[in-house]
Amino acid sequence: MEQITTPRANMQYPVLIARFFERGYTSPMGVKELLREKALELGFASAGFTSVEPMPVYLDEIASRPEMYSWVNSDYFSTVRGASPGVKHPWARSLMVLVRNYYQRLFPQDLIGLYGRCYLVDERKVRGAEFAKFKALLDFMRRESIRAQFDEEVPARMAAAMAGVSSYGKSCFVYCTDAIKGSSWLESIPLLLDIDLDPDEPSLEVRCPSDCDNRCLEACPTGALYEPLKMNPLRCIAFHSYYGEDITPRELREPMGTWVYGCDLCQEACPRNRPWMSTELPVDQDLESRADDYRLPVLLCMGQEFYQERIWPRFFYMSRSRVDRWQMNAARALGNLGDPSFIPDLERSLSESPYANVRAMSAWSLGRIGGRSTRSLLEKRLGAEGEIVAAEIRSALEET
Ligand code: SF4
Ligand code: SF4
Repeated sequence: MEQITTPRANMQYPVLIARFFERGYTSPMGVKELLREKALELGFASAGFTSVEPMPVYLDEIASRPEMYSWVNSDYFSTVRGASPGVKHPWARSLMVLVRNYYQRLFPQDLIGLYGRCYLVDERKVRGAEFAKFKALLDFMRRESIRAQFDEEVPARMAAAMAGVSSYGKSCFVYCTDAIKGSSWLESIPLLLDIDLDPDEPSLEVRCPSDCDNRCLEACPTGALYEPLKMNPLRCIAFHSYYGEDITPRELREPMGTWVYGCDLCQEACPRNRPWMSTELPVDQDLESRADDYRLPVLLCMGQEFYQERIWPRFFYMSRSRVDRWQMNAARALGNLGDPSFIPDLERSLSESPYANVRAMSAWSLGRIGGRSTRSLLEKRLGAEGEIVAAEIRSALEET
């Protein structure tokens, strides 16, 4: 009988080995198939394997546009460091890449256009059912004496394409190769493993249909997607909704529309996503029960306690102390929504918010939708404000 060993001095996998022989495998590479099978059994949409060698395509791309990517390459966080996983983690021998479908249920209709879908069901901090699947896989590996570690610096989309579980679109998103009807509604999760496993066939190529005519580029309202496969994160709505400047630059406010956290426009426009979007899916009861918390007037007026307890645990890219960024985003979204029934909310925010960026954006929005009815409040506030807010009020008065 063939002896099963690993590169680590004769380390054996007790349960895997038993199942391995039950299935008649004759090569240790059967371990890889059993790990894949376990991931699928737990509910992941797909799983693939690649090496921990440096990722030259990713590194070259980042190096060619340093002005756009300096924010992901600091001492604190560096995807360049992560793109050489075997250098950063000398113990690691393989990468397993999991694909999680985050679009398994219907999203409430009135949250569409406000939030990127992936964030509405992000359970990393709240440790929900999706997180439990991930933990179950890690527990399984631990029982098999396999060391496994997630590292958020490893470029997840590139790892997924290298592991053959997704191919690129010109939108820079990756699309599942063998599940989720080929759509991009996925999260890629790279896991470092300390065992040698044969890499799967990579799928690094772009697989967009020739008759698409770059609909993703046309759908991008800020010009962030400026060429096929070229996205400037510093123009992306998602970036500006959670990482941008203290007050959103004027020229981006209108293009950012009603999005308050993330943006799905390029994915929604993509024909590769249509088959999944027209699939009949169950209602997301949990999300429906939370949806009232996420509406624009609620965000605009929420207090610190509400933010920290009800919003931040699921939308944590902005710090716990930045309730003002949410309120500013909500004010801008209401201005772009253009519904006069929200004027009282914006007037209250302009009068009462302790944050200059929120008052400034409320003035901008009142200028867009308020008309003559808001002039007296804008004029009254003008004398009470410092230069930043006063400039926004003057500009809003010109609009009314
Ligand atoms: S997420 Fe939105 S802003 Fe960003 S590239 Fe796509 S369409 Fe453009
Ligand atoms: S919209 Fe068209 S070009 Fe863009 S990613 Fe989808 S298929 Fe490709």
